[in-house]
Amino acid sequence: MTDYYEILGVERDATPEQIKKAYRRLARELHPDVAGAEGEEKFKDVARAYEVLSNRDKREQYDMGVDPSAPGGGAGAGFGQGFGFQDIFETFFGGGQASGPVPRARRGQDALVRMDIDLTEATFGGKRELQVDTAVVCGTCGGNGCRPGTDVRTCEVCHGQGNVQRVARSFLGQVMTTAPCAACQGFGTVIPEPCAECSGEGRVRSRRSLTVNVPAGVDTGTRIKLSSQGEVGPGGGPAGDLYVEIREKAHDTFVRRGDDLHCTLPVPVTAAALGTVLELSTLDGQQEIDLRPGTQPGEVVTLKGLGVGHLHANGRGDLNVHIDVQVPTSLDEEQTELLRKLAELRDEERPDPRLAAAHPGVFSRLRDKFAGR
Ligand SMILES: [Zn+2]
Ligand SMILES: [Zn+2]
Repeated sequence: MTDYYEILGVERDATPEQIKKAYRRLARELHPDVAGAEGEEKFKDVARAYEVLSNRDKREQYDMGVDPSAPGGGAGAGFGQGFGFQDIFETFFGGGQASGPVPRARRGQDALVRMDIDLTEATFGGKRELQVDTAVVCGTCGGNGCRPGTDVRTCEVCHGQGNVQRVARSFLGQVMTTAPCAACQGFGTVIPEPCAECSGEGRVRSRRSLTVNVPAGVDTGTRIKLSSQGEVGPGGGPAGDLYVEIREKAHDTFVRRGDDLHCTLPVPVTAAALGTVLELSTLDGQQEIDLRPGTQPGEVVTLKGLGVGHLHANGRGDLNVHIDVQVPTSLDEEQTELLRKLAELRDEERPDPRLAAAHPGVFSRLRDKFAGR
């Protein structure tokens, strides 16, 4: 826990008056006009220490080992009594940085667009054209926001400083505070004749076309970053980044789990019993699948490396084919006769009704998922 007594340089049994005195002394020493930007950081600690130790309830909590200014700490005391930390800070520093005019050109915001892709694109990757609507540098003024032939003018209120100083009264006595100049919004310059095209913003909205490289393995939620393709900033400042968020459309046949694909293959009971070779339409074209004689319902045949490509890595997931053995439902006379004959040969006319424990495969997670398909 932070030692607030040490920060203020007082004893643990210091009186409220001693605490206040110590705080005032440090506040003057750490004022940015005296200590510079470094003082500001230290002052934050000092103000936090004072906020706790100057409040009877909070000091009591703190002495019992609870830091009431820590995030989530302190019960109920809140910032209601006395000075809130933010109040102290703003009274003291005027809430603003006192470091000269802010540049008109600022970095643009990042932009996010969504892109729908299908499973084939996610599996193999590819290039896609994308229309984006973002701010671009104004072609009329080149980004400075001035009507062509005119230029920005130094602000007469702050003389180009971007901020104004004023004397404020506070509980610390009189302090100089610095605030952004209201006349020029802190820029130090004004635009006397704004560009008609962009109203002085230096940028306009425009639709343009981009080529996006979609890597193999992207999934719903994956974001592809296109550096500096976001919107141009105010005053023609550098562009932010563009993020393309992927949304993968569901495929009619294949269900994706990670980089593996799953599908169901209905197989007649005779083929499952006798075994066979079948041709499947996969994302990689026709592929042979080998069913061994005696293939069971729910059995999974794995085609290695025919799943989705791993994102930013070599290799691909697998294609898992879940075998769904189909029992015939309508038999003609001849078929019925044949099956009866088979049952007789196998001595299965009156099967023994032996119950067996449910075997784990039947209830496996994936079977459940595919049961509804
Ligand atoms: Zn313009
Ligand atoms: Zn100004």
